[in-house]
Amino acid sequence: MKLAKRVAALTPSSTLAITAKAKELKAAGHDVIGLGAGEPDFNTPQHIMEAAVKAMYDGHTKYTPSGGLATLKQEIIKKFQQDQQLDYKPSEIIVCVGAKHALYTLFQVILDEGDEVIIPTPYWVSYPEQVKLAGGVPVYVEGLEENEFKITPEQLKQAITNRTKAVIINSPSNPTGVIYTKEELQALGEVCVAHDILIVSDEIYEKLVYGGHEHVSIAQLSPELKKQTIIINGVSKSHSMTGWRIGYAAGDADIIRAMTDLASHSTSNPTSIAQYAAIAAYSGPQEPVEHMRQAFEQRLNIIYDRLVQIPGFSCVKPQGAFYLFPNAKEAATMTGYENVDAFVEALLDEAKVALVPGSGFGAPNNVRLSYATSLDLLEKAIQRIEWFISEKV
Ligand code: PLP
Repeated sequence: MKLAKRVAALTPSSTLAITAKAKELKAAGHDVIGLGAGEPDFNTPQHIMEAAVKAMYDGHTKYTPSGGLATLKQEIIKKFQQDQQLDYKPSEIIVCVGAKHALYTLFQVILDEGDEVIIPTPYWVSYPEQVKLAGGVPVYVEGLEENEFKITPEQLKQAITNRTKAVIINSPSNPTGVIYTKEELQALGEVCVAHDILIVSDEIYEKLVYGGHEHVSIAQLSPELKKQTIIINGVSKSHSMTGWRIGYAAGDADIIRAMTDLASHSTSNPTSIAQYAAIAAYSGPQEPVEHMRQAFEQRLNIIYDRLVQIPGFSCVKPQGAFYLFPNAKEAATMTGYENVDAFVEALLDEAKVALVPGSGFGAPNNVRLSYATSLDLLEKAIQRIEWFISEKV
């Protein structure tokens, strides 16, 4: 059957593609080290799982309001007050099936055919596809490596046209791990307010920040910026709950109402028991979040120092999330590959290390490594990459 035009141009997630190939090799008996993971390698904390089990036995196994349980919205509101000193009303919050679905629903309700969304590169793989699925046009602005992959207000200004509807800011960033400072956000925010551009602030890695760096939400910086911003967040990365699929959006009540109407005809609601689990995640002890953060920070510091010793690799030091995004162009050239994609493919075939090529993130000279795996495996992976390079030069 002929598929809809809408999906003809859809590219499958490159992150999932490499993970699938690594799994295939593993199933065939190869000792593959996968560094493609986009999720914490910790179990969901015990008290959260217990809350979900209790919810089930208490009979909370029915439909919930489409925008999420009132109690969960209250917990999210409290979280915004505590962490960002931001006040939202329940009508300004929607709980979705993960942050990914919150973004998808948002683009569906704000974009008309041909509306442009500014996406800084390197970007998270789903942004362009989601924009296109909503009839929008992604407009890329290059975050230069020498500027820690961040875009400047001048670059933003230059990308704006009379079709620009929104800009996405993802800080801490997947794949680079860099964090915009308060001053940088202020300067970008001024451009958005002046041109009345909606800011989509994806703060899913908010809790994973290192080296004394601070996460600031652009919505915190002024009442005008709060009005101009939709915050996207969730419990997937902070509480190691990727499979539970709970994320949310906060901002303008009209946008949230439209998103809720759309959800009422698509998902009906996020899974009831997962919502109870998310209530426990926010209302319960936060120590597990900090323990996971510390474990990631320790790995980052050890692995970053090792990574930059690999011949032909250079890397901007990440400040958050759980990815390293080294430039491997020189390594690819040294070893005789025409580009980094080919280098990554050979690395998987010959050294059995799965990295994600940066081309899927709009940065073809880079590769993404996730350190959401044990230090032992990380060290082993680096040794294999070093071996692979030394064999070829
Ligand atoms: N935004 C970014 C930048 C991500 O990296 C991810 C997950 O990989 C998401 C959003 C989606 O998270 P969720 O599991 O809540 O859908």
